Amino acid sequence: MPKAVALYSGGLDSLLSILVVKQQQIEISAFKFLTGFVSPLQEEDLLLADRFGFELKEMDVREKFINILKNPKHGYGKNLNPCIDCKIIMLKEAKELMNAYKASFVITGEVVSQRPMSQKKDILIHIEKEASLAGLIVRPLSAKLLPPSKPEIEGILDRESLYDIWGRGRKAQINLAYEFGLKKLPQPSGGCLLTDPLFCKKVRDLIEHEELTVENAELLKTGRHFRLSQKCKAIVGRDERENEILLNSKKGKLIYPFDFKGPVILILNDCSQEDMDKACAIGVYYSKKKENLMVIQDREKRTEKNYKAIDKEEILKYRI
Ligand code: SF4
Repeated sequence: MPKAVALYSGGLDSLLSILVVKQQQIEISAFKFLTGFVSPLQEEDLLLADRFGFELKEMDVREKFINILKNPKHGYGKNLNPCIDCKIIMLKEAKELMNAYKASFVITGEVVSQRPMSQKKDILIHIEKEASLAGLIVRPLSAKLLPPSKPEIEGILDRESLYDIWGRGRKAQINLAYEFGLKKLPQPSGGCLLTDPLFCKKVRDLIEHEELTVENAELLKTGRHFRLSQKCKAIVGRDERENEILLNSKKGKLIYPFDFKGPVILILNDCSQEDMDKACAIGVYYSKKKENLMVIQDREKRTEKNYKAIDKEEILKYRI
């Protein structure tokens, strides 16, 4: 049986693309590429893979992705989403997987003209060349609008059974989903945090302060973030789960209320005493007290001091 490797985002389009090709008796190994800004595979994804009979795994590309995020060759989309370079990274990885799995082609859920930046016809073709996969990428939902791919030319895939969907509308995909018996539809796309303007403020701050690493990017998903000075950053837990994550962090210093009734704060980088004082005052503010005894826990040393809550207006100066 011929094999294909598929890019799986967790969105409806990538799932439908897999199902359309699967109908043509192709064995499919699908991969969700973890950039650090999309969620890992969920139980529902694995259940769908099981139900429709395709292999589904994760592939960690965070290191490579972080490097391009700092300065993407093809620029950013509306927010900090470097979609063209992101696609190229994923397709380069898919090429390696294609060789490893002895697959004949790669499937993606892209739809012509669905997104302004990365899904224009000429950009799709450019991406294909940059990933050294010219003619080897099949976009089943829009295949009839694109030049025939190698597997179509060689008769591995029947072009007539592929689709000519284009644009931002969802009607054709929803109808197709019902034809496949999908009752609960996945989101249209995979849900990337780099398309969220508020989240991007925090990413931009890390880029501007040359602190964008996989580890620091991971911490952006937890707590409220404050830039206390050029070098010093504080992350303030919003609930017990986030406090636990910050307490378990292997880096930085910790600040927390003596009686633990309030937030845990993770202090990153070299922070002056003045910065630490500001962070403690922020901690008191979120403890909902006027003043409180705060603990500063360095890796070796612990100190305790009474602090007053920072003013509401002052806090805004530091909030990222
Ligand atoms: S939205 Fe995010 S995951 Fe999707 S292509 Fe763009 S950068 Fe990559």
